[in-house]
Formats: sequence, structure tokens, C-alpha cells
Amino acid sequence: MTYQAFLIKYAEIGIKGKNRYMFEDTLVSRIAHALRPVEGQFEVYKSQGRIYVKALGPYDFDEAVDALQHVFGIAGICPLLQFPDQGFEDLCQRTVAYMGETYPDRRRTFKVMARRANKRYPLDSNEINSRVGEAVLEAFPEMRVDVHHPDVLLNIEVREQINVYSQVIPGAGGMPLGTNGRGMLLLSGGIDSPVAGYMVSRRGVWIDAVYFHAPPYTSERAKQKVVDLARIISRYTGPIRLHVVNFTDLQLHIYETCPHEELTILMRRYMMRIAQRLAEQNGCQALITGESIGQVASQTMQSLAATNDVCTLPVFRPLIAFDKQEIVDVAKRIGTFETSIQPFEDCCTIFVAKHPVTKPNLNVIRRSETHLTQADPLMEKALETVEVISVGE
Ligand code: ATP
Ligand code: MG
Repeated sequence: MTYQAFLIKYAEIGIKGKNRYMFEDTLVSRIAHALRPVEGQFEVYKSQGRIYVKALGPYDFDEAVDALQHVFGIAGICPLLQFPDQGFEDLCQRTVAYMGETYPDRRRTFKVMARRANKRYPLDSNEINSRVGEAVLEAFPEMRVDVHHPDVLLNIEVREQINVYSQVIPGAGGMPLGTNGRGMLLLSGGIDSPVAGYMVSRRGVWIDAVYFHAPPYTSERAKQKVVDLARIISRYTGPIRLHVVNFTDLQLHIYETCPHEELTILMRRYMMRIAQRLAEQNGCQALITGESIGQVASQTMQSLAATNDVCTLPVFRPLIAFDKQEIVDVAKRIGTFETSIQPFEDCCTIFVAKHPVTKPNLNVIRRSETHLTQADPLMEKALETVEVISVGE
């Protein structure tokens, strides 16, 4: 069966009252944008509180569905049979043909669910239900009706056109990009931070990213891995400006000046300070990290508090209560896992102490920082020498 249209189901944006139009219009433009690289031509439009995608000629079905599955705000994608009203006989015939082609094995239970938006249509929904049901049973005696738990829910909508659909391909969920501001993601080459960025972005947030690079201790390949991860998530998040900060001098200064067991915490405080400055410069309203309680020494409750201490912007940690396996599952689903596990050095592990503090005392940490006399100018220098790499479109 070739489908010339899709009905787009959206969940949350349907309940936003007056803002609903804004959300719908944003979703329509995100869908049009996502379909641009797909072979074929499409029209995306709103009609009577629904969003439709219509192919204006031949197109690649799998590519189109794949593109739609990367658009936040879509709950489900329904391949749609759409035709003008040419009488009830015609509706029955087309629907029977649709059932035969869509479910060639026939061993299904079904239920017809008709909705009549056009009240002038001569049959009401109950009549449509029972007469179409009979026609399907007559054509395919192996099929059965089950009104409680049908395998196939056969939707028939009588609108300006007739819509017939029964398949719902899951969408990415969330809210359309651009409906909820912008955040600065601290993106390392690990498993967690790409997932964190994906999750916050899914709430309609545009993403900028910052990566702390420490050449020559971290290699070009480690940096390339972060660029690759940004590109993978950009299929969902839209374009990302990746800010690459040269962190080497600041890191060496901390290493040479402070007790080594405090190194990670101090480094993380400076990362947050720099990320926050970049966030402010780029119109971001929050920072985003991949931290999760207790995962490593720098993610105990006390360490998280010590890291948070230097931030005035809110810090979003969507993975805070996730188990590692749950994070891995999402990473695999969104396609970042294989890249994340490539073994390149990470600037947090290069100078890592054998016994890092797990319960840092904030006063002690703050006192250690007073010895870092060069930290401020080094931070300014790091900010002045940021390299910006744009990924995605
Ligand atoms: P990830 O898997 O995301 O690398 P992790 O388990 O290795 O996380 P940490 O190294 O403690 O944990 O980092 C915690 C968070 O700090 C990361 O999720 C990321 O948001 C941020 N982060 C760590 N290192 C860097 C870096 N080099 N550049 C940018 N952000 C970083
Ligand atoms: Mg890491």
C-alpha cells in the first residue's frame, strides 16, 4: 500500500489553551524542516485541529517516517489513506481494500471507530461502524471483531475528506523545539551527557554545547568524538554550536597549586563557571549536565553541592536519578552509545587523583581556590580563545 499522507498525533501541545496555536505552528515548521532532506515533496498543514503531512508525488516512505520520528512534539505518525467523499459504497470498498493490503495475513481482530466531523454526512458514526465492519467481515471471513481489545483499531474520519488509518508509528514525544528556550549542555565524550542533552531538548529546548579540551593531554580524536556526538544528537536537537574551550592551562594551574584529592571538584567548579559565562553570552537560560547521584566521586550529594555552589543559572541534571543501565538504554536508542564507548581519554580522568574526596567540605574547597591566583586570568584567556564548531542544520 502506498500512503500519500500522514496524520500527525501530538500529545501535550493539545492542552495548552491559547498557546496551542503557537505550539502547533512551531510543530508544523519543525516537521517541514525535518522533511527537507527527504526525497520527495511534501506539504505540511493544519486543518481542524490536526496536523497533516501530504506527499505531493512519489517519495521515500522509510526516509520520511525516519525524519518524522526525529521531530520532538510528535506522539504518533499515522500513515493515512485520504480520499474525497464519493458516497458510502466507495468508502466501504476503499476501506476493505485498505484492510486487505495493510494486513495481508488477515489473522487479526479489529474494531471500526468512525468519527463524523461533517454532520451532513448521511450516516452517523454507529451506522458507519457497523456497516463497514460487516463489509470487512464479508471480504475477509478470517478476521474477527473484538470491541474490547482489538488488534487493529480501524479509524474512519469523515471530514472535508475521508481519512482512514489504523497504524500508529511511535514518535519522539516531548515538545516542539523552540517552545521552551535555550540551554548550555556540558558535553563530554561519555555516555551520559549526550543523553542529558537529548532529554532536555525533548522538552522543546534549543541546545548549545561546551566541551573542555586539554591538549596535548586529550587528543584531537577525543575532540572529534565529541563533535560526532553533537552531530548525532543534532538530528533531534537541531543545530548545535559546540564551544570548544582550551582547558589545559587552567587545569595545570589547579594541578600544581591544590591538593590532588580536590582536583576533580575544583576542575568541575571552573568548568561550571566557564559554561555559565558562555551560556550568558549565548542567550541560554540554564546549564545541562549528565550527572547522576553517586555514579562517581564527583557526583556524590556533597560533590554536586560543591559544583552547584558556583552557579547562579539553574543546572538541569535530567539523569540525576537514573541507573546507568537506563542511561545506556536511551543512548542505544538515540544512536550515541557506540560513539560514546570509543576509548579516548577524557580531561576529567587525565589528572585524576587516586583517592578523590567524596564528601568535599565547601569551606575547604573555597579556601583552596584562594590559592589559585592565576585562575581568573586563565579563565578569561580560555573564554577568549573558544573555538566554535557548528554541527547539524
Ligand atoms: P559523561 O558520561 O557524560 O562523560 P561521566 O559519567 O564521565 O559523564 P563526569 O566525568 O563526572 O561523569 O562528568 C559529569 C558531567 O560533567 C558530564 O556528564 C558532563 O555534563 C560534564 N563534563 C565532564 N567532563 C566534561 C568535558 N570535558 N567537557 C564538557 N563537559 C564535561
Ligand atoms: Mg565523562
